[in-house]
Amino acid sequence: MDKNFEEEQFTGIIKFTPPLYKQRYQFVKDLVRKYKPKKVADLGCADCTLLWMLKFCSCIEVLAGLDTCANVMKEKMHRLSPLPVDYLQPSERSLTVTLLHGSVAHKDPCMLGFDLVTCIELIEHLEESELKKFPEVVFGFMAPSIVVISTPNSEFNPLLPGVALFRDPDHKFEWSRVQFQSWALEAARRYGYSVEFTGVGHPPTGMENVGFCTQIGVFVRKYPQTTEFTQSEKPTEAVYKTVFKAVYPSLKDEKYLWNAVVGEVIFTAQIIKRSLLDRLLPQHKEYNDDLPERKSEFRPQVKCFSEDLERLLAEKSTKPFVNGNMVYIPLATVFSFPKVNQLCGTLEKLRQLIAGEVVLSSDGSAVVFNIEHENEEN
Ligand code: SAH
Repeated sequence: MDKNFEEEQFTGIIKFTPPLYKQRYQFVKDLVRKYKPKKVADLGCADCTLLWMLKFCSCIEVLAGLDTCANVMKEKMHRLSPLPVDYLQPSERSLTVTLLHGSVAHKDPCMLGFDLVTCIELIEHLEESELKKFPEVVFGFMAPSIVVISTPNSEFNPLLPGVALFRDPDHKFEWSRVQFQSWALEAARRYGYSVEFTGVGHPPTGMENVGFCTQIGVFVRKYPQTTEFTQSEKPTEAVYKTVFKAVYPSLKDEKYLWNAVVGEVIFTAQIIKRSLLDRLLPQHKEYNDDLPERKSEFRPQVKCFSEDLERLLAEKSTKPFVNGNMVYIPLATVFSFPKVNQLCGTLEKLRQLIAGEVVLSSDGSAVVFNIEHENEEN
């Protein structure tokens, strides 16, 4: 795990490369890569930078941020909104991002069902009374599969210039490794988690005894949650206030899937049609590559290379063909293209999604193009 942080350099004045906060976020991203959680909550999310980074992790379908300071969350929350490209090319996965105003000292049912809960540099900002409630809320109530908690390691402070008592005036405490680990082990024991300790921000050579600048505990729930516990002990009253919610366009939503499939089918069928006409009608290709004045010379002299159109359609031939001014691209051929195949899954689903949107042959087995006016328009 620590391999990522080996770039850190000691130059007399402590300077981390990459910066320490980035190393913490990268640590979380590595955890996400390892455990592939679908639902992730960041407690004490501040300006949502970590959430913004996590929205690019393709396994995540639900992202939630919680903070007691609504203003800091709102500062850059626009970064969590979908971009035009998300609408132009909706993703396979669904993604909902929610920002909640509230405290980790309170339970809210919207925090149930998460796989990973991150608390990056949060606990040292908690008042004593809040810190007391924190384990019961996070491990007892939210009870995600994994919890990651980071906090300053006070043993490193003498190496940081200008740090008299705490690294930040809002810190209520800073713990040594023993203090953090005994608190974490007690919480883990009480709520059925195992915990491993690590950190980011390597100490300089020769000073390894102080430990990482940021200490981290990764808690993994030992037992699967029982539904009995979930139902009997979880309160239902909502106390957090939603300050932001974004539902990303996704192909899981039928309306976006439909749009993508219709576009892809027309695009694919056009490509097949073009290559068929280029093959059958060399003058067509020439025309297409040639000067505008030659346009009028072209008249599609297309011939049916099937003797019996009805028979072909009935057999659902997978070969595209031309009959007079009509080009027939069997749906099975279109379906065999990977992108269409991937989007629809089955030929039946493909039929269902393009019904009424793409012109089909009378028996519904082929996409039909009328090329009579096509070249005149060109
Ligand atoms: N996780 C962020 C921010 C750390 S600063 C990062 O890594 O950069 C701590 C944040 O916790 C602040 O934004 C603060 O407003 C928030 N916070 C403080 N007390 C809290 C509480 N009781 N519940 C939720 N958030 C709290």
